[in-house]
Parts: sequence; structure tokens; C-alpha cells
Amino acid sequence: MRLRTATIAAATVIAANRAPAQQSLTPEQQFAKEVYKELLEINTSNMTSGTTVAANAMAKRFRDAGFPEQDIFLGGVRADKHNLVVRYRGKGGPNGPKPLLLLAHIDVVEALKTDWSPDLDPFKFIERDGYFYARGSSDDKSMAAIFVANLIQFKKQNYVPDRDIIVALTADEEGGCCNGVRWLIQNHKELVDAFVVINEGGGGSLRGDKPFLNSIQATQKNVVNFKVTAKNRGGHSSVARDRLLAHVLCVKSGDRHRPGADRRDSTYRADFLRERYVRHPLGGRESGQQQQQTPHQLFPFS
Ligand SMILES: [Zn+2]
Repeated sequence: MRLRTATIAAATVIAANRAPAQQSLTPEQQFAKEVYKELLEINTSNMTSGTTVAANAMAKRFRDAGFPEQDIFLGGVRADKHNLVVRYRGKGGPNGPKPLLLLAHIDVVEALKTDWSPDLDPFKFIERDGYFYARGSSDDKSMAAIFVANLIQFKKQNYVPDRDIIVALTADEEGGCCNGVRWLIQNHKELVDAFVVINEGGGGSLRGDKPFLNSIQATQKNVVNFKVTAKNRGGHSSVARDRLLAHVLCVKSGDRHRPGADRRDSTYRADFLRERYVRHPLGGRESGQQQQQTPHQLFPFS
């Protein structure tokens, strides 16, 4: 998804694709940056490349850090679409609490060099004016790099969590033949079975060097289709007046991208839309009867 990534606290080292000042990096942050760079410079385009090279590169980092082979899994739908699952053992043991799963996809949407600015390459890591540039720098390789770096840092510090922590780096979240999450659930559920999952969505931010905000987004990945009809006297957006039909639809459907739109969370929006359009849909889905409704009934806040 084309969203800013969420980060976790602990040894979080990079906030999305905003670059901290070079001289301020700790060795841990520098390590995370190297992981991030390595991931970004491996082409994992979901339609023309695979994830296996990137998954192998991250697996090597875990092996080099001393993770035992039995806690490192590589596999997927196809040989070029591998996922990586790594388990960091907590103190709970086999009967302990269920694990925490940190999930990030390592595929990216296709990117052609010819479509990018002449001085940028989608698969070359560039740091400029305080930002990182490359395909996936925000979605979702920053999150993947943070998870990898944090887990390796935990091991270096001999940190033993109460529960196992699993990192899963997956294929084809952006679409394609070989969705890694689905494949893991269907074929190796024991590897990713968890108490809670942290996935992309939400977003972290810093004020100066200090963590300021880590927002959480729930139930973002649902698809709901609505048929919406609105009536007013119409008009043309080039001669804008207040309450154009398009505005009415935009406001009432809760378009989160509209400038100045109310940014309530998506869970609330789902409830809002269900309440307004599913419980009383145009087609009368609950009753099975076609309902005739005026715009006022459809848009009770008009
Ligand atoms: Zn994404």
C-alpha cells in the first residue's frame, strides 16, 4: 500500500523515508541504514522480479547474527517469490504466550527508470536534502529494515522478551501471483500464528530526534463497494460553487484524501459507511426490497 509505514518503539532507527542527519547516527542506526539500503537496491518489483534475492539477503543477516537455522524459514509459492520468516525466542517456551508477529512486505510496485526524474534511479538508494529516495523507501522496505535491524539488535543485547517475536517479510502484497501472507497461512500457519500482528498502516514521526507520534490504523485492508446516488442542480468543477454534486459525494463518502477532510480512523469510517449505506442501501439489501430514498434520506447530514 502507498502509505507511510508504521514503526515500532524499542530500537526504532529510521522514521519512514525521512533521513536523520548523517552525523547523528548511532552504530545501531547505521546498521539499520545499511539493511535499508540493501533492501532498496534489490529490485523486488511484483510483476517482473521476485522477492527471493531480498529474502535470502535478509536471511543471511540473521544467520550472521547467530540466529539458529531452525528459526529461519524461506519458502513461497514459487522459487522466485520466497518469503522469510524468522522467530526470535522469548522466555515463554512452547507453552508460553502466543508470539508477536511483525509483518512487512518486501515486494514493490513496478518502477521504470524512464518514469523517474533523470537524476534518480528507483533501485539506487539516494539520500538527499534529508530524505531517502528509492522505490519502496517508504512502502514497505523501511518497515522491513526496521524489523530486521531491531531483531538483530535484540539478539546482540541478549534481550529475552516474554513471548516469541516473529518477523515475516513477504511477497506480492502489491498484487501478483504469489501473495506471501496467504501462502504462509495456508501452508505454514504454525510459523506465523500470533497473538497480535503489526503490519503497515498508521505511521511514525519524529520531532527533531525525539519520537513524537506513532499512529495506529486498524482494519485498513478491507474492500467495500458502494453504489451512491446524489442529487442537486449540478455544475462544473471549473466554475466551482459551493456544494457541487461531486463535493456532496466526496463529503458524504468520507473521502479521506479530500483537502481538509475529517481524518477519523478507518474503523470508524467503516462503521459510518455501514450505518449510512449498508443498513439502508439503495438496493435495500437487508430487506431484499428496492427502497426509494431521497438524497436527504441518503445523506441525513445534508
Ligand atoms: Zn505496502
